[in-house]
Amino acid sequence: MLITYLIIGIVPMLYFSYNTTKTLQGYFEDKNEKEVLYQANKIAGNIQKAGYLYDIEKREQFWKDLDERSVEENCRIVVVDKDGYVVADTNGLVNGRLFLVPEIMVALAGRDEANLRKDEKAIYASAYIEDQSSNKIGAVLVVSSFADVYNLTDEISQKWVITTLLIIIIVIFLVIFMSQIIFGPLKNILNTIKKISAGQLHQRIELKGKNEFTELGDAVNNMTKRLEEVDKSRQEFVSNVSHELKTPLSSIKVLSESLILQENVPEEVYKEFLQDISSEIDRMTNIVNDLLALVKNDPNQSKLKITEIDINKMLRDIIKRLSPLAKEKGIELDFDAAKDVKIKGDEVKLSLAISNLIDNGIKYTPEGGSVSVKVDSDSKSCFISVKDTGVGISKEEQSRVFERFYRVDKTRDRETGGTGLGLAITHSVIMLHNGSIKIESEENEGATFNVKLPIEREV
Ligand code: ADP
Repeated sequence: MLITYLIIGIVPMLYFSYNTTKTLQGYFEDKNEKEVLYQANKIAGNIQKAGYLYDIEKREQFWKDLDERSVEENCRIVVVDKDGYVVADTNGLVNGRLFLVPEIMVALAGRDEANLRKDEKAIYASAYIEDQSSNKIGAVLVVSSFADVYNLTDEISQKWVITTLLIIIIVIFLVIFMSQIIFGPLKNILNTIKKISAGQLHQRIELKGKNEFTELGDAVNNMTKRLEEVDKSRQEFVSNVSHELKTPLSSIKVLSESLILQENVPEEVYKEFLQDISSEIDRMTNIVNDLLALVKNDPNQSKLKITEIDINKMLRDIIKRLSPLAKEKGIELDFDAAKDVKIKGDEVKLSLAISNLIDNGIKYTPEGGSVSVKVDSDSKSCFISVKDTGVGISKEEQSRVFERFYRVDKTRDRETGGTGLGLAITHSVIMLHNGSIKIESEENEGATFNVKLPIEREV
């Protein structure tokens, strides 16, 4: 940024400064050359008219006039004869000597000329002197200082340079100031992100005002909040798993210790206790199996085995498997398929998901109730509903039953043998299929689970 600003600001300044001094110098060079040449011509004309070069009497006076003029005009005047010998020099340096500077030679050859001598910072202008028959009888050289102009242009350039320097300083300060404004908040965000990635998930970015940076900060804050939630739910999950496994483990421990500590235990008691131990082991196995099923449904690891599924056939198979359970409880289990529906999905996983719903319907419906399964579809989706006449789920609980290990009434479920993982598994399978699941229920008035699955898999 600094370099860009400097180039944009300074290059034109330097170019402009260079150009102004050059133009000024050019202008004055032209003007002064003309003026000095005019003077040389005038003096040459005077000498010519009055014949000063030959008239000794008048000459003295004329030389005096020349001296005065040279002081007045601040210039040096040199007059030479036709061979280049100096007749008069207002500086008195080269009197009587041969003085053949290029301008004089040109003038003696019959041409007037003015030149700027940059090294001497002076203008040399010469004019020839003729007699009546146009013979060149001498020349006048006027040397006028050009230093004033150089001083002036130097002064102007100096001012340009000072202005440029001032601009550079201002630009540097501006850039530092701007970068503070731009990079300050970015640095702040970056520092917080570093802390977050080092594990400090409670860190948040301070949001001041409303601009792109605060939006970025807000996005990072939301992401961190989500990370914190995931972290919290992971910890909760581990503690839930441990807790769930601890209960059967302590039962087994108590049962087996009481057998060890008692002497002469009758065989029936042994059998009974071992039966209890075995069912606790079954419960642990269930939990572990459900956990494995859940882990397999993790969207990051799970690969669906997609095939075409005949939904009615799949549901009939499930119902066939579960009807002994329903019969045992005296529950009517019926199935109503409005249409033939085929969808693309993972049959094993979907079958498990719907089994859990029907299984729950049977589990949470008292004897004499009913569980009915219905299928319908439109051009895009397949709808499966599982409706029971059981205990129902209150509104507050409806949002929580899909959580892992969540159970409405813990004591009740110990009896039903649930792990609290069934609906979590169902939910994750349906999410993997880009579907949705909704509950319609009132407490004690039965529950309906409505599942919607896309017929084609969107990629
Ligand atoms: P569980 O293995 O305990 O059945 P789920 O995840 O399948 O675990 O269900 C979570 C909780 O939701 C259950 O403990 C139960 O309280 C409630 N629930 C699930 N299905 C039904 C239903 N059809 N009727 C009433 N309550 C239900």
